[in-house]
Amino acid sequence: MANCNTETMEAANNKLFQPPDDLLNSAHVQGMDNYRKMYNKSINDPEAFWGEIAKDFHWESQPSGKFFDYNFDYTKGPIFIKWMEGARTNICYNVLDRHIERGLGDKIAFYWEGNDPTDTGKITFQELKTEVCKFANVLKNLGIQKGDRVAIYMPMITELVVAMLACARLGVIHSIVFGGYSSEALASRVLDAKCCAILTADGMWRGTKLINLKTIVDGAIQLCEKSGYHVDHCVMVRHLSPDEQESEPEEGDTQPTPAKRPVKRLKINWVNSRDKWWHELMGEMNTKEGKTCDPVWCNAEDPLFMLYTSGSTGKPKGVLHTVGGYMIYTATTFKYVFDYQPDDIFWCTADVGWITGHSYVCYGPLANGATGVIFEGIPYYPDAGRYWEIVEKFKVTKFYTAPTAIRCLMKYGDDFVNKYDLSSLKVLGSVGEPINPEAWLWYYNVVGKSKCAIVDTFWQTETGGHVLTPLPGATPTKPGSATFPFFGVVPAILTAEGKEVSGPIEEGYLVFKQPWPGIMRTVYENHERFETTYFKKFPGYYCTGDGARRDEDGYIWITGRIDDMVNVSGHLISTAEIESALIQHPSVAEAAVVSHPHSVKGESTYCFIVLNEGHVMTEKLKTELKVKVRSKIGPFAQPDHIQYAPGLPKTRSGKIMRRILRKIAVGDSNLGDTSTLADESVIDLLLQHRPEEL
Ligand code: ATP
Ligand code: MG
Repeated sequence: MANCNTETMEAANNKLFQPPDDLLNSAHVQGMDNYRKMYNKSINDPEAFWGEIAKDFHWESQPSGKFFDYNFDYTKGPIFIKWMEGARTNICYNVLDRHIERGLGDKIAFYWEGNDPTDTGKITFQELKTEVCKFANVLKNLGIQKGDRVAIYMPMITELVVAMLACARLGVIHSIVFGGYSSEALASRVLDAKCCAILTADGMWRGTKLINLKTIVDGAIQLCEKSGYHVDHCVMVRHLSPDEQESEPEEGDTQPTPAKRPVKRLKINWVNSRDKWWHELMGEMNTKEGKTCDPVWCNAEDPLFMLYTSGSTGKPKGVLHTVGGYMIYTATTFKYVFDYQPDDIFWCTADVGWITGHSYVCYGPLANGATGVIFEGIPYYPDAGRYWEIVEKFKVTKFYTAPTAIRCLMKYGDDFVNKYDLSSLKVLGSVGEPINPEAWLWYYNVVGKSKCAIVDTFWQTETGGHVLTPLPGATPTKPGSATFPFFGVVPAILTAEGKEVSGPIEEGYLVFKQPWPGIMRTVYENHERFETTYFKKFPGYYCTGDGARRDEDGYIWITGRIDDMVNVSGHLISTAEIESALIQHPSVAEAAVVSHPHSVKGESTYCFIVLNEGHVMTEKLKTELKVKVRSKIGPFAQPDHIQYAPGLPKTRSGKIMRRILRKIAVGDSNLGDTSTLADESVIDLLLQHRPEEL
C-alpha cells in the first residue's frame, strides 16, 4: 500500500529522526556540535578549510595568486569565481593514478550490471586506468587536444566513464548528453559547444525497448551539417553484439548488428571517413606505449566539462565546471554526505548524463577510491524489485536515487522490497525534487527498515555538488527538509523585496551569499546569460531559482521553483505543499499543481491528478481532494480546478515540467522548448481531459 495512514504521517512529520546509533559513534562527523565546528571553520576561513582538504590531492604546482577570489555583485563589475587559480593538476590523475600509487590498484572501481540481470561485469582501478590511457591515446591520434569539446552520448556502460576520464586526462572538455535525448536535442548541444567528435554506442536496451543510438547520432550529425557544422569523428562502442565478428564496413554500408538478447538486428549506417569502432581503435593500443598516457596538467580554473541543465524551467543552459574546485568539492561532499568508508559499495542510480551521475557516479566516488555500481537498466525491468535485487547482489551500503523513482516504486507495494535482503544499507540519499514526507517515510521505513540515515540532498547542475543536506552521523532529520548547508555554503532566504530574513520564514527566495569550490563558473560562451540568470535578480547573491522556507528550528525546506509559487489573493503558496497534501489521498498516485489566472483572486490553483490503479476521477473524489487541501494547509489553498491526468509531462530526468502544465491549464498548445520532454504523447491526452467549463 503506497499511502501511509495520515495520523501516522502527521506524527512522523513533527518528529525528529535521530542519526542511527552506529553512525553517531563512527561517522566522519558525529553530532551537530561537530558539524557546527567544521561548518564555522569552512565559512570563517575558507582558505584554511579547503586548503587542508586540497592537500590530499596531487598538485603539480601551487596557486599563483590568491587561493580564493570572487565577485558576486554585478553592480561592481563582472561576476567571477576562482579557486586556486594557477595551481596545476589533473582530475583523472587524482581519481586513478593517485589511488593506484597508494596500493588500491586491485580494488574494484565499478561493478557493472546491464539491462539484463545476467549481464554483469567489474573493473579495478588499475584496469580502469589502463582503459582510460588507451582511449586518451585514441583521442590524441584523432587529433583531439586540450580545450576541444567532445560530446558523449552513451548508455550506462563502463566505456562511458572511460570516455569522460580520457577527456579529463587530456584537458579535453566533455559534454555528456543523456542517451535518451532525440537527434534534435543532441544536435543543438553539439552545435552550441562546437564538439569535434561524438562518442556513442551502437544501441542499448531500456527494459524491453531497443534503442538504436547510432541512428539518433546520425540524425544529429545531419542536422549539424544542415546548419553548416561538420562533426569530424564518431566513435562507437559495440555494446549489443560483443561476440559477433564482422567484415570491414564500406562507405554507405548498412551494418547488421545482432543484439545479444532477445535476438533482434540493429541496422547501423556507416560513413567510413567519420565512423570508427571503439574496439578497433582500442585494439591498436595494446602496446606498452598505447597503455600509458601522461596526464596533461591543467590550471585549476581550466574547464573540465560542460553539461546542460534539464530544461525544467526553460531552454537548457550549458553549465561550465572547472577542474580544481569541482574536484575537491565533489570529493568532499561524497565523503561527508554519504559518510564514505573504505569498504562501502556505493550506488547512485542516476544516469551519468545528469549532474548527479557526473558528481556521484564518477568523480566524487572515484576521488575517494570508492567502489561504485553502474546500472544500465531501469527500475521496473524485469520487475519492480530490480533495484532491491541489485542492492542485495552487490551488498550496497550507500544508495542514492530520486523521489520520482521512490514514488513510482512505492506504487508497486512493499512486497518487492521485502523479498530482498537489504541489511547492508546504511545511508539512503534522495535528489532531484522535493521529496514529499510520505515518500520519505516509505524510503525510511520500508527500504531502510528504520535503521538507515536519510540524506535529502538539495543541489543543482550549477552547484556541482550538494549544497543543502543532512550529514548521516550528525543531523537529526525531518521528512521533506534538506536541513542545513554543507561546508562552505552560506544560504539565505530573501523576501520578494530582496531582504534577508534570519529567523523563520514561510516562503522566500533561496540564495547563496558566497561561492564554494564546486559552483559553476559560467554558461558556456554566454557569460551574460550566466549573470542574468543567477545574479541580476538580487545583486550580491547567487539566486537558485528555488523557493524555500525556514522553520523555527532553522531547518530549510525547499518549496519548489520560484516560478511555481502561486499567489492566491495575496497568499504566496508553494505548489509542492499542495501536491504533498493531495498525494496523501489513497486514490492519488501523483499530483502536479500550477498557477491559473483568476479574475478575482489574481491566481488560482490548477491540479493535475494521476490516480492509482483501479481508481476513477469522480465529483466525489474532487470534493474529497479539496477538503484534504483545506484541512492540511488552509481554506485559502483549496484547489480551484482539478483535472484527471493519465500521466504528467516530465523531463527525461523524471522531473515534472510545470511550465508545460501551466500552458495546458489555460489551453495554450504553444508549449515553448520541449526538447527535454520525455514523452510528447501525454500532452494531447492532457489537453483532451481539460474540464469543459474552462
Ligand atoms: P533547468 O535549470 O534547465 O530548468 P533543472 O533545474 O531541472 O533544469 P537540474 O540542475 O537538474 O536542472 O535540477 C536542479 C533543481 O532540482 C533544483 O533547482 C531544484 O528545483 C530541484 N532539486 C534538486 N534536488 C532537490 C531536493 N533535494 N529538494 C528539492 N528540490 C531539489
Ligand atoms: Mg535549474
